[in-house]
Amino acid sequence: MTRKIFRSLCLVAFTVFLCSVVLIMGVLYDYFSRIQTTQLRMQTQLAAQGVEHAGLDYFDGLDIRDYRITWIGADGSVLFDSDADTAAMENHLERGEVRQALAEGYGESHRYSATLMKRSLYAAQRLSDGTVLRLAIAQNTILTMLLGVGQGFAAVIVIALALSVVLARRLSKRIVEPLNELDLDHPLENRGYEEIGPLLRRMDSQQKQLREQNARLMLDQAERAQAEQVRREFTANVSHELKTPLHVIGGYAELIQNGMVRPEDVRPFAGKICDGARQMGKLLDDIISLSHLDEGAGDMQFEDTDLYALAKDAAEELAAAAEKAGVKIAVTGESTPLRAIPALVRSIVFNLCENGVKYGRRGGTVTVDVKALPAAARLTVTDDGPGIPADQQQHVFERFYRGDKSRSKDIPGTGLGLSIVKHAALVHHAWIDLQSAPGQGTTFTVTFPKEI
Ligand code: ADP
Repeated sequence: MTRKIFRSLCLVAFTVFLCSVVLIMGVLYDYFSRIQTTQLRMQTQLAAQGVEHAGLDYFDGLDIRDYRITWIGADGSVLFDSDADTAAMENHLERGEVRQALAEGYGESHRYSATLMKRSLYAAQRLSDGTVLRLAIAQNTILTMLLGVGQGFAAVIVIALALSVVLARRLSKRIVEPLNELDLDHPLENRGYEEIGPLLRRMDSQQKQLREQNARLMLDQAERAQAEQVRREFTANVSHELKTPLHVIGGYAELIQNGMVRPEDVRPFAGKICDGARQMGKLLDDIISLSHLDEGAGDMQFEDTDLYALAKDAAEELAAAAEKAGVKIAVTGESTPLRAIPALVRSIVFNLCENGVKYGRRGGTVTVDVKALPAAARLTVTDDGPGIPADQQQHVFERFYRGDKSRSKDIPGTGLGLSIVKHAALVHHAWIDLQSAPGQGTTFTVTFPKEI
């Protein structure tokens, strides 16, 4: 780019310089021609006065330098000529300046002189005796003028050209410099050419877009990595949770198969196998429910339901288990209409009640209360069990999380119940509150907004 600007500037400078030289030469040539003509007229008038006084003697020893002097008789014959042989010369009456001098007293003309082979200026003055005195001088041509100023002119050309080249180089560098110094990483911080403002603004917005895309890409990558990690943990957890009941089933089945079990032990062993199978079934049911919820439960329909009726159903379903655990389930409240997905609300109530039964106090009560608020329906499940320690409360909704006590006490469970509650609540835009303290029981409150 610098080279291109440099070449253009040189071209402009040379062109302007050449045109100026031609014009100046033309003006000078015109000026000098006029001076030469004026001088010739004066010289002619002076010489005419001389010849008028002295006749032919005037020409004796006359130093005429570059001039040619001709004295022409009234009949056109040449009486004297400083350059050519008078006898051989043709009649001069037809010459323009001579004719004009004879008619008007003074005449001028310029032409190529056949005898002198160059362009000449002529001035003629009529004398009192009717003869004409004519002076001629070779006129300066532009070439002679150029040759005359020769060396000086060449020096001017060289200096002008050198100056043009130096200035063009500096100028082209100065033009390109701000462009070379552009900070393309921060386009809007550049000062310099206003004209490239739109380009820089465009660049800035494109860079911003790129940065945003990059950030989004990185976020996507991080999310994907996290999802991958969750999937891996999930698979590991599922395999782990499946292994325990599978070992139990396999172990007892093998003992029975090998005939190593006393007949009276067969029933309890078969019971253990059934428990293991039930546990596996429950785990698979929970996994299926969770993965369904992960996909958004899009195929499930919202219906007009009654939260109180759903709570009653869940309590009934758990009646046998509650009795076995020595826990009473009490459903209080009133009919509370709710637009919801019945199966999911049922699983919320069921899981919370089941936990109340599992972790509650033997001889205690699990209270399920349903209340209609002005803009929401509220479900509260309270037990009078040992409660959840504060440091575990934030983890209980995580997948496969099981409190230490639940494990050590060998309470059956998958660690997925409260994750299912959390996701089912999310589908209904409901929020969950957990209040618990060791020895003080546990209260889960789920609030379903009426308008989603
Ligand atoms: P699970 O019951 O299969 O272990 P959950 O996700 O339902 O899985 O519960 C996670 C953990 O939270 C339980 O292992 C238990 O330690 C604790 N938990 C849940 N509900 C109660 C409750 N009502 N009282 C005491 N601890 C509870």
